Amino acid sequence: MKFLFAKFDKIGVPLLAGAAAALFILQAKYQLRKRVRPAAERYFENGSVALAALPTLRFALLPAMYAAAKWSNKNGVGLLQHPGIPKWLKYTAGFILLDYSNYLWHVLLHKWPLLWRFHNVHHIDMDLDLSTAWRFHIGENVASVPYRSLAVALSGVPAPLVVFYEIVFEGCTAFHHSNLKLPFWFERRLCNFIVTPRMHGIHHSIVARETNSNYSVVLSCWDRLHQTLRLNIPQQSITIGVPSYRSPADQSPKHLFLMPFEKPRPWQLPNGEVPAREELPGREHLLP
Ligand SMILES: [Zn+2]
Repeated sequence: MKFLFAKFDKIGVPLLAGAAAALFILQAKYQLRKRVRPAAERYFENGSVALAALPTLRFALLPAMYAAAKWSNKNGVGLLQHPGIPKWLKYTAGFILLDYSNYLWHVLLHKWPLLWRFHNVHHIDMDLDLSTAWRFHIGENVASVPYRSLAVALSGVPAPLVVFYEIVFEGCTAFHHSNLKLPFWFERRLCNFIVTPRMHGIHHSIVARETNSNYSVVLSCWDRLHQTLRLNIPQQSITIGVPSYRSPADQSPKHLFLMPFEKPRPWQLPNGEVPAREELPGREHLLP
């Protein structure tokens, strides 16, 4: 099994680190949503969760997906392994298929109660910024290894594409979690193609209907296709997080680590109220 990925480590990682540094500076200068918790505390909490989880992406997920692609390429297994398919089409369609498989995985994380216990650790963050992009429980990352490797094998994508897509995937995840206020006219157009900070901010709302929308990761077309797109929520009216986890004690690294193993709380505020918002027409129109 291959563990050394020179292109990923020598080109991808510096590119991602540069993009993250730029986003970190820009989100501080052009802030989209007001912070509700002290930044230093959140960086400590999110950093602790990320420190445990990130190595699984590089040392388990990437090698496993690459091995799955190699196996499918060698044995001619998978949708795109048909001999008549030209190389350019394998790469283009492969990118689209990988992205679609990740849309479906994100839906699964929300709909399958066992997976939601892990994904919830990402969602209870009460602010949304660049650091949230790496705040995934190690269990969620481990669970994604067999799913994403199977998706790679079934689609039969070329092995080098797996590495390229992963760099794009991580870059886009950092971008759409960031608290960067893009010019509205620009973001309104951009979200027709890729997931943007305002679009993903709605996915992190404490209103259940809003959380259960905008599942796409890179391309935004999957939410349009499955009618899970919801853009007509003004960003300033969004409360980020999950209603039943509003105490700073919920955010301690120890609690975040143990959370998947405790009974999930019902989707309601500490006072018993269920957050709601009137459904307005024009779901596919982004609001500032
Ligand atoms: Zn989610």
